[in-house]
Amino acid sequence: MATYVERVIEECKKRNPGEVEFHQTVEEVLTSLAPVMDAHPEYEKAALLERLVEPERGITFRVVWEDDNGNVHVNKGYRYQFNSAIGPYKGGLRFAPNVYPGIIKFLGFEQIFKNSLTGLPIGGGKGGSDFDPNGKSDAEIMRFCQAFMTELYRHIGPDTDVPAGDLGVGAREIGYLFGQYKRIRDRFDGGVLTGKGIPYGGCLGRTEATGFGIVWYAEEMLKANGEDIKGKTVAISGFGNVSWGTAWKLQQLGAKLVTISGPDGYIYDPEGISTDEKVAYLLELRASGKNICAPYAEKFPEATFYPGKKPWGVFQDTGCKVDLFIPCAMQNDVHMEHAKQIVEGGCKFYCEGANMPTTNDALAYLMENMTAVGPAKAANAGGVACSCIEMGQNSGHTVFQHQDVYDQLHQIMINIYNACANAGEKYYGSKNCLVQGANIAGFEKVAEAMMAQGLV
Ligand code: GLU
Repeated sequence: MATYVERVIEECKKRNPGEVEFHQTVEEVLTSLAPVMDAHPEYEKAALLERLVEPERGITFRVVWEDDNGNVHVNKGYRYQFNSAIGPYKGGLRFAPNVYPGIIKFLGFEQIFKNSLTGLPIGGGKGGSDFDPNGKSDAEIMRFCQAFMTELYRHIGPDTDVPAGDLGVGAREIGYLFGQYKRIRDRFDGGVLTGKGIPYGGCLGRTEATGFGIVWYAEEMLKANGEDIKGKTVAISGFGNVSWGTAWKLQQLGAKLVTISGPDGYIYDPEGISTDEKVAYLLELRASGKNICAPYAEKFPEATFYPGKKPWGVFQDTGCKVDLFIPCAMQNDVHMEHAKQIVEGGCKFYCEGANMPTTNDALAYLMENMTAVGPAKAANAGGVACSCIEMGQNSGHTVFQHQDVYDQLHQIMINIYNACANAGEKYYGSKNCLVQGANIAGFEKVAEAMMAQGLV
């Protein structure tokens, strides 16, 4: 006889056919929650998990825009408003050609737990479009963002749903989206989008917040196991905003970052991506709009470019022993074969940076064979936490100073680590059971709120 958790997972897969990333995250999260369900039989009676996996609302819309040559294009737009039990829906917008409901729903579902873990009053949501921003002119990006917001504006608001950026949506896109919202609504509504530019309500530190938070989380994870992040050799994937913030904080804390990667391959820099010039160059690479990292090795000849490869095999390729791996690129970047390479290289610590960067089987393998594995929904929660600080700044008609934001964020990341470690210990017997601990700690608050609010 299948358990409650198993039944909900199966039912969810059947009701959302073909949405493989969404199935993956539901399976990973709900499986962790099994001991909580045993302790709370009232959750099953209230169909709590069935409600949790069904978005409160999903909006799909048409986005029509014209390119610079006068050709008309039609894209799909999405916003999944997943759960508002503890606050307004909050989560980013992703613009990428592979976007479809399975991706937006996995991100929206993860966001419920992530946002709860921050300890701040924000619910979970996510949106985006199958629009590919790479290679588009600035004018095309603006027209697309305006067309997207011309539908989205009616579904969002500072106390309803607060979108932000994600892959393909940075400060420039948020600026165009905000401009169009303001034009249509005739309201400033500062807190309706986060990740805004500093002159119009943006929060100092938001750009680096996700990366800084990841490293602060990893630092706690290492510390709990008697290790100092200072002097460690670190390998990451990606070269976008998250990677840049991660590289910068690693540099500040005295760790040596040896890799970055793109769709074209990876860079190995034996001297470390550890100078101001090298860290700043990551921003330049991303801003080029070419989505390739190879030019790093032309600019810094001590580095080598490995075309078509991922950095998980850096030990096999170069003999470099890595102490900490941090995938910062995108979902399902680390498969079983990569997990085996990571473990074979003798690495003991792994901390997810991107959302769901590890397949479920690879994650299970890493958890079994490493000292500690930090889950994305906890480690990368600094970004959305900073977004919530931005919402507070906007609603209070004030401005927070850089150091204030960093101090708040650092404390939030320590609290998140402790919440994961304590739940891991309580339900799974070890403070290093951070993956299960994050799911449980994130779930507990949402579950209590949903129970208190009745059958809605
Ligand atoms: N897209 C980011 C994330 O995955 C940020 C969301 C936000 O700031 O609302 O958490």
